[in-house]
Amino acid sequence: MTEALVTADKPRHAGRVEQILSFIAWPALVISSASILAFGFSSGHPSFLDVTLRKAWFFNLSYLWMLCWLLLLERRWPWRRAWQRSDGQLPADLAHTLLDKGSVQMTIILLSALPFFAHRGDGWVGTLPLAVQVVIGMVAAEFGLYWAHRLSHEWPIFWRFHAIHHSVRRLWIANTGRFHFIDSNISVVASLPFMLLTGISMDAIIWVSAITAYLGLLTHCNVAMRGGWLDYLFNTPNLHRWHHSPDPAEGNSNYGQNLVLWDQIFGTWLHRPDSELGEIGIVERMPRRFWQQLQVPFVWTRFQRESATADTSTLV
Ligand SMILES: [Zn+2]
Repeated sequence: MTEALVTADKPRHAGRVEQILSFIAWPALVISSASILAFGFSSGHPSFLDVTLRKAWFFNLSYLWMLCWLLLLERRWPWRRAWQRSDGQLPADLAHTLLDKGSVQMTIILLSALPFFAHRGDGWVGTLPLAVQVVIGMVAAEFGLYWAHRLSHEWPIFWRFHAIHHSVRRLWIANTGRFHFIDSNISVVASLPFMLLTGISMDAIIWVSAITAYLGLLTHCNVAMRGGWLDYLFNTPNLHRWHHSPDPAEGNSNYGQNLVLWDQIFGTWLHRPDSELGEIGIVERMPRRFWQQLQVPFVWTRFQRESATADTSTLV
């Protein structure tokens, strides 16, 4: 590990104010974004939009709010300064994100339209306070997300797809959505039915989706935030960085997307606030271009063999 990485892992906060800010950054961003969405649920503005479009409008606004703050904080206050340097993967990161989001939306629409899930929100669970429904929905969805993610590390055929997400050598918000679209759709198929079957209302489903989006941005951000007690409940950036270690003893941990409940129950929660994280990435090779990355799971063995000796245009 280089000296630059070691020193950057332990940001020296100049003063007490910055230390306090490092503790409140995560909750402040979540609460402020959620407040924007809550305002959208309760207000009648903008009045020219119908109620569904109004909620979507405010969700996008709250997401943009968090995105702008994180972009600013990553420049001003990085957790690891070396991760500010370009890895040449921004076009691939954005292309994966677009394909990923588009295909996942289609899968959600198709799954939600199935008759088996059609009466969601009609039962007693749908009459509970919204906050309770959101907690129920998150715990249920997380069960599917946890196992889909864990199997994508432990089953070699699934790892071929998930390795694209783990192939990056730095974490920042631009590679939050860098997933092979088949990898993401496996996660949705594994988690959405659990949430729909709880019977929570559509508003609760929107809130679970929004919180998932907020926490997803935060887990990858290169901002010097401290987790504190939040590490015991949520998948914070501090926990998620360990998940990107190429060492299986460190990387095969913290599979939860939002919550760490199932990691704690199944023994994969890794909490090392005082240890130094080394380099991140994968031990296998990965092509640099988007189209090649889409294809590589299907030619995995041949690509690994040939690129190890001949090809220098790989991430590792
Ligand atoms: Zn993973």
